[in-house]
Amino acid sequence: MDEIAAQLDELRQRGLHRKLRLISGPQGARVLLDGKPVLLLCSNNYLGLADHPRVREAAADAAMRWGAGAGASRLVSGNMTIHRRLEEQLAEFKRSPTCLMFGSGYLANTGTIAALAREGDVVFSDALNHASIVDGCRLARARTFVYEHCDPDHLEWGLREAEGRGSLIVTDSVFSMDGDIAPLEEIVELAERYDARVMVDEAHATGCIGPGGAGAVADAGLEDEVDIRVGTLGKALGSYGAYVCCDDDVAEYLVNCARTLIFSTALPPPAVAGALAALEILREQPERVDRLRRNGQVMRDALDAHGVGAGPSETHIVPVVVGGAPDAMAACERALARGVFAQAIRPPTVREGTSRLRLAVMASHTRSELRSAAGVVASAVLAGGARRPERETRAEPELEPAAAPPPPRAGGVYDQLAEAA
Ligand code: PMP
Repeated sequence: MDEIAAQLDELRQRGLHRKLRLISGPQGARVLLDGKPVLLLCSNNYLGLADHPRVREAAADAAMRWGAGAGASRLVSGNMTIHRRLEEQLAEFKRSPTCLMFGSGYLANTGTIAALAREGDVVFSDALNHASIVDGCRLARARTFVYEHCDPDHLEWGLREAEGRGSLIVTDSVFSMDGDIAPLEEIVELAERYDARVMVDEAHATGCIGPGGAGAVADAGLEDEVDIRVGTLGKALGSYGAYVCCDDDVAEYLVNCARTLIFSTALPPPAVAGALAALEILREQPERVDRLRRNGQVMRDALDAHGVGAGPSETHIVPVVVGGAPDAMAACERALARGVFAQAIRPPTVREGTSRLRLAVMASHTRSELRSAAGVVASAVLAGGARRPERETRAEPELEPAAAPPPPRAGGVYDQLAEAA
């Protein structure tokens, strides 16, 4: 118990202690946060579908028709017609041979990587991949090579060193904390040359990028080249849950071997129905995707005009790097005092010295809301004495372990990489 108290104390001293804030009512452009009205600038409800009346009605109807819960894991008795229907719709939307739903993006990434990367294999993971990918690498019996963020040269070096044992390259498409996009074409080319599978996490791309919001892989025309596309239903699709788009063999293999699918209850029918309705709206109203893209640009331009940059962001995720964790928290509180909520993101989510306000615009924000929020955020950040951040964050020192270091091998390449990871 003393140890826990001491750890909490240390987190407080380092400015890394977190507390839960309370939102009243549905996620929208404006919410009540701890009882106070604010403009919400850190929700992943990118397209404004979580609070859309049709999505809410579909979830409510599904609760009446199929019940509140699925009652069991999919392999026992929890696999319902509504699960199959959403999988079919998602496979069509993503132009994928098939689609398999998981309980969440976290479960999809950990379960899929751990199932596919076996002992003797090497997984190649971008240094800024999401924590669920990092944890998938940790769970897998394979070794992990962490390549520098968006660096195909470093990836190729690792693939060469692995001498044919490279089984899986895994990357976010849109990076969750920087809003930049992975070099998918180069990654696919390397995968073909070195005979590895490619897995792309489209959590922040689905509904946000590409034709009709089909994702960054679709935008690059690489649907047939990328073996596995993971996505979540909890962000642009306004609900909860996740999916893996892949071929029939991989899907069948995952049903049999992905422990996070086998040993976890199937998604609740209301969540599935909500995502189905959201997907239908997305297909009817692709202009929501355009509005999201434009809003990202409006925010970047406005921040620039106020003297703070948004780093390498090319999307609706627009981070403003502050520096130290306490400074980022103070900036968050200053913005909040003026009615703008942009959560401070600190280590271990981002690297030490790169704590930031991660602004996430939504299609449902108006331009004037975004422009005035940019002014509030900029003055909140600059009031703390932050310098104008560099456009490139990848050269920052790497402190958070991005993946489990492989066991020591005398003189082997993985020894050096363990340091880097
Ligand atoms: N991948 C990425 C890139 C994410 O940002 C997240 C959620 N923040 C996940 C996976 C996990 O998705 P879920 O919330 O559905 O567990």
